[in-house]
Amino acid sequence: MRKLASVQVVKDVSPIPSADRIEKVTVLGWETVARRGTLKVGDLCVYIEPDAIVPERPEFEFLRPDKFRIRTKRMRGQIAQGIVFPLQDLDIVGNVGDDVTELLNITKYEPPLPVELAGEALGVRPWFVPKTDEVRIQAFPELLDDMRWFEVYVSTKLDGTSMSVYWYEGKFGVCSRNLDLRESETNSYWQVVNRYNLREVLPALCEKIHGLGIVIQGELCGPGIQKNRLGLKEVDWFIFNVCIPDYKLYSSIYNLQEYCELAGLRHVPISHQMIFDHTIQDLLEMAQGKYEGTQNDREGIVVRTIFSVTSKILDDKVLSFKVLNNDFLVKEE
Ligand code: ATP
Ligand code: MN
Repeated sequence: MRKLASVQVVKDVSPIPSADRIEKVTVLGWETVARRGTLKVGDLCVYIEPDAIVPERPEFEFLRPDKFRIRTKRMRGQIAQGIVFPLQDLDIVGNVGDDVTELLNITKYEPPLPVELAGEALGVRPWFVPKTDEVRIQAFPELLDDMRWFEVYVSTKLDGTSMSVYWYEGKFGVCSRNLDLRESETNSYWQVVNRYNLREVLPALCEKIHGLGIVIQGELCGPGIQKNRLGLKEVDWFIFNVCIPDYKLYSSIYNLQEYCELAGLRHVPISHQMIFDHTIQDLLEMAQGKYEGTQNDREGIVVRTIFSVTSKILDDKVLSFKVLNNDFLVKEE
């Protein structure tokens, strides 16, 4: 779904105070900078998103110090996310929306996986366990209109790792983002399973809600996972999805809170509930701040409707997006 490099239209070009060589360029919902005069409003351009790894070629030589990875920068106070080129500079011919990621030999940066998490896999994640993912609002700015006037809630984006637990057709299992994991005593995922007694809790909850099965998804956080920015003493699990397989049913946030209470689980922190009429700028401000009780910048927020709805823009997936905290991104290693 994520197009790391695509052909787009330049939405806006404007000066940056006290900078005469560079200017601000807006593409989709992204703000970045380019050498002055490179592009003008309405021009087609190639836009390459943050986290792309570009190949070595003369046009990308300036990214060598960053090991050719596109990162979020702040230049003269202006946030710069992604890079833009006139089509001809990269020998691209195309139309708005064309995905040119492969054509340009661009790959995605993936952070390395810590050892405590690497487990032996039984196989890939089963079909009834949805892949957890959030699009960035800057890449899909039309979602602002899709969401307008809905009642929404904002949860804190925790920077751990995705953990899903399922009970389906008499089978219990645990998945990382992509794999069905074999039981192991040393593995952080299974430590959480044992602590919360999930082998019993899931079937009980499933029966209570008369589901054919149940999948609970959350963020596994704690020592050894990312930078443990929550400052936890032991691993813990924070729920953000409860779904009933077959019905393709996602619960509302009220259901989710109720199920968590019934099952003795924690959910992700919820910071706001509001009628949505926000701009990207509003959301970027809301995304700033520290994880509660720490001095650590939070990764950002996730915005969803209170009662889940789907979005055509997201190919009929649930209407939900993330807004990453630029303070966090600028400092990120
Ligand atoms: P990218 O999409 O930027 O390439 P990615 O695919 O690894 O990166 P993330 O930035 O990790 O995606 O964002 C999606 C993930 O965020 C989900 O898979 C989930 O594990 C995690 N997450 C953390 N906190 C929340 C939250 N409050 N609500 C929903 N998901 C959350
Ligand atoms: Mn993603």
